[in-house]
Amino acid sequence: MTQKLKLTKPTKKMTEEVVTELVGEHAMPIVDFLKGKTKISEFIIAEELELEINETRNVLYKLLEHNIVSFLRKKDRIKGWYICYWDFNEHMVPQLHKKLHQQKLDKMEERLVNETSATFFMCGNACSRMDFDKSMEFEFKCPECGNLMHQQDNSRTVEFLKDRIKELKKLVS
Ligand SMILES: [Zn+2]
Repeated sequence: MTQKLKLTKPTKKMTEEVVTELVGEHAMPIVDFLKGKTKISEFIIAEELELEINETRNVLYKLLEHNIVSFLRKKDRIKGWYICYWDFNEHMVPQLHKKLHQQKLDKMEERLVNETSATFFMCGNACSRMDFDKSMEFEFKCPECGNLMHQQDNSRTVEFLKDRIKELKKLVS
């Protein structure tokens, strides 16, 4: 990885999006606390944020799974036990952000293929929706309520997906 890439600073909104989607909103205070600091003891984090140490560690490990934070384990010379010192990997955020949008884009594209390659039938009471072959099996009668199923006009869904794909493509390019 080049030095130039590492210097890309994520916006606050970008960080929030990544942390919230990958770990959860509850992880934001820890990320905010670590921001701009280096090698912070997990006990300090817990104390400053008034969290239980186990709760703090659980969140940190979740963040670690996604490389949002990293740690250094050192033996405390006085107490004799190991303490983890944590860093927020701010430079990872833009990459993770891009990855998140790429995954969404893949899903949307898959859905679009699905929507445009099949004809869907839907019950008038909206209890079931299925493709042509499946509806044939049920003789075009809803398996839930027995109502006749009608071919669904999915052009709005297709339009929605196309728009969303266009937006996401801008974000990942
Ligand atoms: Zn029905």
